[in-house]
Amino acid sequence: MDEFSFIESIKQHTYNQSSLIKGIGDDAAVFSSLSQNIVSAVDTFVEGVHFSKETMSLFHVGYRALAANISDLAAMGATPAFYLVSIVIPKGWSQEELLQIFNGMRHLARAYKMDLIGGDTVSGKEMCISVTVIGFTMKDKARYRSTAESGDIVFVTGTLGDSGAGLHILTHSNNYKEASYYINRHRMPSPRISFAIGLGHLARVTLNDISDGIASEANEIAEASNVTLLLNESEIPTNSSYNQFPVELQEKWKLFGGEDFELLGTIPPKDWDKVQQIGELTNTNVTKIGEVVEAGKNGKVILKQKHKSILLEKKGYTHLK
Ligand code: ADP
Ligand code: MG
Repeated sequence: MDEFSFIESIKQHTYNQSSLIKGIGDDAAVFSSLSQNIVSAVDTFVEGVHFSKETMSLFHVGYRALAANISDLAAMGATPAFYLVSIVIPKGWSQEELLQIFNGMRHLARAYKMDLIGGDTVSGKEMCISVTVIGFTMKDKARYRSTAESGDIVFVTGTLGDSGAGLHILTHSNNYKEASYYINRHRMPSPRISFAIGLGHLARVTLNDISDGIASEANEIAEASNVTLLLNESEIPTNSSYNQFPVELQEKWKLFGGEDFELLGTIPPKDWDKVQQIGELTNTNVTKIGEVVEAGKNGKVILKQKHKSILLEKKGYTHLK
């Protein structure tokens, strides 16, 4: 495979972003921003660790890699603008296969008018894709996980556990209902950009995207904000046919499965109805799942279950006395 013809084949002929000055073709890309804050994130995906050709087409590998990054921008309240892709190509991969990965990314990028403005192409032992995204927020409007305050409502978008269920369906023989719904949620997650941007005029919103499981992200908010989050398990939203899966798996995917790329947030109660309105306007289900109960109590998450409360930790839970 010839690197130059490959780069030529993935290069956009026109760009969408007006802030772009130089795209692919020089030593680096150039863009400008007069008044906005620039937000950037990177995620790396290694074949066999983060994805497998067995459960996903190459189109989906690309789609998902970019979706995971865009979700980080959503969690910062940023509008996506650019992406760069570094790819390590092992022997035996054809240009056609690589193009399928880039097609998957392009498909999602188009929805957000994002431009591919650079990257790197090298050969190596393992297939590896690293995607960098760049977005913008209004000045001082990036959303941090450190801003939760006692009394806030804790909310989550969409439904949780779907991606874990989708992967399970793909890797086990089974006869589950709505299989294509779950598989699609695994392969083509929808980052919550329009909802996050819709929150733009609110004074204070805490956001984090669910990539490792709500247990993990809730703890990140609790630690960064130095508060305690109290979550009600029965309020955590799941899809209507989710109860068809074994109970332990439901629990595992919903709390620790991650990769649903939904948003977990906190908001002062006075702004809760605005959050719900923005949810409606952007076609995003938003559910209240708990509250911030204590400030200055160094970062704990308590999960209220039917008959008891447990301390929810990043990767598991312990029973409270
Ligand atoms: P340099 O040698 O100056 O680092 P390269 O020859 O690696 O530049 O790349 C030439 C151009 O192609 C640059 O604009 C670079 O950003 C772009 N490019 C290279 N690989 C990729 C890729 N995988 N995806 C997107 N753009 C790429
Ligand atoms: Mg150069």
